[in-house]
Amino acid sequence: MSEFTRKKKYSPEVAGHYMQKAVVTISPKDPLRLAAEKMAAQRISCVVVTKNDCPLRLISERTIVRCLAEKLDFDTPIYKVPRGPFLMVGPHDRVTVILKRMRRLHVRRAIVVHKKKLAGIVTQTTLLEAYQRILHKVSVKSDKLATQAEHDELTWLYNRHYLKEAFRHEISRVQRYGGLLALVMFDLDHFKQVNDKYGHPVGDVVLRTAGHVMQKAARGADIVARYGGEEFAVLMPAAGTRAARLFAERVRQRLKDRTFQHAEVKFNVTISAGVCKWSRELNTMSKMIAAADKALYRAKNAGRNRVRVAK
Ligand code: GH3
Ligand code: MG
Ligand code: MG
Repeated sequence: MSEFTRKKKYSPEVAGHYMQKAVVTISPKDPLRLAAEKMAAQRISCVVVTKNDCPLRLISERTIVRCLAEKLDFDTPIYKVPRGPFLMVGPHDRVTVILKRMRRLHVRRAIVVHKKKLAGIVTQTTLLEAYQRILHKVSVKSDKLATQAEHDELTWLYNRHYLKEAFRHEISRVQRYGGLLALVMFDLDHFKQVNDKYGHPVGDVVLRTAGHVMQKAARGADIVARYGGEEFAVLMPAAGTRAARLFAERVRQRLKDRTFQHAEVKFNVTISAGVCKWSRELNTMSKMIAAADKALYRAKNAGRNRVRVAK
């Protein structure tokens, strides 16, 4: 084993990770016969020709077959045997790059060279398997990134970006096919005081709980999003103000009934909501949000912990 194979670790994206380090070698002065004998005796499909540990070429089963077909004398020294295409790569070369080069050269193996010395060989089969694993990892990662991009980190509800997309989609749907679309805007009451009294981490717990309560009360088609700091928006396809108000009431009641605790202190939190529905007048996202916000503002002014519907 060469010095570097002992101390280095290679990432799964590069050749070094997959190379077979135990390689049978042969000298260029040896006869072709010796290559064939070594391959037969050790049941291997190739030997590497080296001079002072420096790899020169590869003799594979294919080389032997070609020599047989050309009736080449088996006592011919290897350095006189015509070379076919062969590939030398570094241990840090990427699997994907090597696979491309293998395809181009029509070879199934590559000699791995490190600091001009033979480090091992890699086969196309091993690299193809590795490539499949790499592809799988990349697709899982991109799914994860796509999900992350649509969600709020703290509550794991949809984020504002996703809400905007959903709005565009739902508004174009009601505009084209008719039907109902309602919006509820929620805002926690005196939430600043919760943070001030119990600390920000406790505030975060309250936010997560409020989100959870909304999610549980909503139907599958509803889009529950964190709109901003302690504000939430729920877009409700196929719902009018009556259904939306009942939903908001249910959330308000369930949250009010929750008891939170910090150290020995127990406390409750309330929420206010404003409701509106899509109409020919309220026909954009910003108009609907403004209308729901206005209703929410009336709920706050009327004493908080209540739901108001846009007039
Ligand atoms: P009101 O009843 O009028 O809505 O009063 P409020 O205190 O809830 O309203 P205000 O807008 O004054 O305060 C909102 C607070 O929400 C202030 C801010 O510190 C807090 N907040 C915003 N985002 C987060 C967050 O991610 N975590 C925590 N813990 N607090 C947050
Ligand atoms: Mg607010
Ligand atoms: Mg608030």
